[in-house]
Amino acid sequence: MCTIGCHLSASKGYLSMAKQAVSIGANTFQFFTRNPRGGSAKAIDEKDVKAFLEFSKENSIVHILAHAPYTLNACAADDRVREFCIMTMGDDLDRMNYTPGQMYNFHPGSHVGQGLETGIAKIAETLNIVLKPEHNTKVLLETMSGKGSEVGFEFSQLREIIDRTALSEKMGVCLDTCHVYDAGYDIVNDLDGVLTEFDKVIGLERLCAVHINDSKNPFSSHKDRHEKIGDGSIGNDAFKRIINHPALKDIPFYLETPNELDGYEREIALLKSIRE
Ligand code: FE
Ligand code: FE
Ligand code: ZN
Repeated sequence: MCTIGCHLSASKGYLSMAKQAVSIGANTFQFFTRNPRGGSAKAIDEKDVKAFLEFSKENSIVHILAHAPYTLNACAADDRVREFCIMTMGDDLDRMNYTPGQMYNFHPGSHVGQGLETGIAKIAETLNIVLKPEHNTKVLLETMSGKGSEVGFEFSQLREIIDRTALSEKMGVCLDTCHVYDAGYDIVNDLDGVLTEFDKVIGLERLCAVHINDSKNPFSSHKDRHEKIGDGSIGNDAFKRIINHPALKDIPFYLETPNELDGYEREIALLKSIRE
């Protein structure tokens, strides 16, 4: 069976998200741990979490994916910005201990002129401060498109971060189809080649989630503009290969396409229909 879902608004809590997911044919979902621009998180409602865990069991929801605010910068030049990232990620992971065994995705960071090497070193340093042995969540580095001074647009950069992270057994990768295509990995014409390279450089055992998005821009454009499935430069034929690929088909897929709930429902149905 295919594990597929989309990004949902977290405002009403876990149970509400799970019910919303099921109502549109999803069996997983992604959500922001707090306002995507940062800010404080709502306190964990233990009753909501308990109800969610029960509902999930009854409805075969096994995986959920939390997404860190995209304004965090684990390699910021400004120490206060980096301190805020450390505080937020630490707090997110403490809260995620209430839903054991789930995944937490973050954008590695932007080196803002410090250079890739410094960026990578600082991101690993940040992780070494944030990650604690008692955390029970997989922490995923998202593959980035390479816009601006983003770190993580080449598999080797993610590998370096993981190598320098002491608790590397907690680390995984989330592959974003729009981002890797924009970064210059040709998943349209050479999906096998890209995944072979991923395996060689990072190891497919680290691949824990896929963000399934089409791209508004052409191959290797380093732009990061998501498009609806089939309406962009990646296209339906490629998505059919992606969703059925032996290295990917058992990994959870998350739509982050420009859609409201009804659009997500249609895309989930579309992706299920091309699943072999
Ligand atoms: Fe993301
Ligand atoms: Fe993404
Ligand atoms: Zn994106």
